Amino acid sequence: MNKWEKMDKDYIWHPFTQMKGWNENEQLVIERGEGVKLYDTEGRCYYDGISSLWVNIHGHRRPEIDKAIKDQLDEIAHSTLLGLINKPSAEFAEKLVAVAPVGLKKVFYSDDGSTAVEAAVKIAFQYWQHKGRPEKQGFINLGDSYHGDTVGAVSVGNIDVFHKVYKPLLFSTNKMTCPSYYHSKLKGIKSENEFLKYCLQELENYLKENSGQIAAMIIEPLVQAAAGMLMQPKGYIKGVRELTKKYDVLLIVDEVATGFGRTGKMWACDNEDISPDLMTLSKGITGGYLPLGATLATDEIYNAFLGEPTEYKTFYHGHSYTGNPLACAAGIASLDIFQKEDVIANLPPKMAVIAKHMAKMNEMKYVGEARQCGMLAGIELMLDKEEKKTFAPELLMAGGICQRARSHGLIVRNIGDVIIFMPPLASSVAEIEDMLSKLEQAMQEVFAKVDAGKITVYSDPCAF
Ligand code: PLP
Repeated sequence: MNKWEKMDKDYIWHPFTQMKGWNENEQLVIERGEGVKLYDTEGRCYYDGISSLWVNIHGHRRPEIDKAIKDQLDEIAHSTLLGLINKPSAEFAEKLVAVAPVGLKKVFYSDDGSTAVEAAVKIAFQYWQHKGRPEKQGFINLGDSYHGDTVGAVSVGNIDVFHKVYKPLLFSTNKMTCPSYYHSKLKGIKSENEFLKYCLQELENYLKENSGQIAAMIIEPLVQAAAGMLMQPKGYIKGVRELTKKYDVLLIVDEVATGFGRTGKMWACDNEDISPDLMTLSKGITGGYLPLGATLATDEIYNAFLGEPTEYKTFYHGHSYTGNPLACAAGIASLDIFQKEDVIANLPPKMAVIAKHMAKMNEMKYVGEARQCGMLAGIELMLDKEEKKTFAPELLMAGGICQRARSHGLIVRNIGDVIIFMPPLASSVAEIEDMLSKLEQAMQEVFAKVDAGKITVYSDPCAF
């Protein structure tokens, strides 16, 4: 154990980590990154197969982003947005609005994905107070949704293993069926299209009765990533947008995971040509360099907050580092790369390699479903794929595969028995090919043990 590993184990409490397993096992200390690779203190090299938890876009140590941050550092690292303007946050807001879905015109900055969601939820709630409809207080969310870890964001989330313990702290919401056909347990529904109709009808039935009490619906568009890359039927977000408009309910689209090109378009919303009333962004917003959140709003919403000081219509919400100049400078440089390198237009061949490997993995005996949306992929393991019988959770199968993948030079992470693959958009076709070959190798090695009756219980430090 080197001195950093010792210091870490002596002093750090890691996020989403069972610290007992963490402390008992050998851990990697990442020292530096270059492109889509990470290097540890022992000189070993790994592909960053999860974009450093879904944030990195253009690779590590991009000279343009490095320079933008260094240049900004020569001016000022931080100055508050409470009562003052700073140059990078103004310029970045203009650029974000220029590329955002039509109608989103104002940017409220915060610190991360959770705070972007907190702001959106509070804005939606307060909006109806200002509109003279104070009874519109409820929220609709999806089964298995995830929107972050602060208490408001957890309230609109619905993943039992993460959220159940906090239930007494949370406000209640109205949950719609999780729109993942593969995971649907509904009887008598025979096709994805029937399932889509069911989900939208369920929403319409609910709205017909209750929209007078509902402030907003919040969804992760196309992909519920943190639930294990659950994918929605084509037409779902379009249908949700039409219904929320029809019944006068705000739509909050949480693009924290899906934004900035991950689904193959700049926004998941672009896949079905929709515009929400509020959109939350973070993760890829700075190219994966610095923490920053943003909640984008329409003029209709923003204007409802305008008034005299004595009307108390102000949005009383903000954070010390709101609009941090270094983070905004990184964000500007990242958007410039999107434009200069035509990043989105260059994604299809990369997505095609992922699709090729997902097809191959789908043939494997213990893969229930290998699914993909653009540059996002999830490989769900099953002991019996026909019966959809899962492995015993204590076997930590996917966690074991992720550990084996490390020994082949690939960092990936599991959520339950789903292996998440989300490489930086900057990964080349050859790099993606190499990453997925390494993953397949790790999968085959673990599956061989299952076949030999030697299922190993992996003590996976990252498991939850
Ligand atoms: N919303 C979505 C859709 C997410 O996937 C996440 C994180 O995974 C969040 C919000 C929370 O973001 P953060 O971890 O930056 O608070």
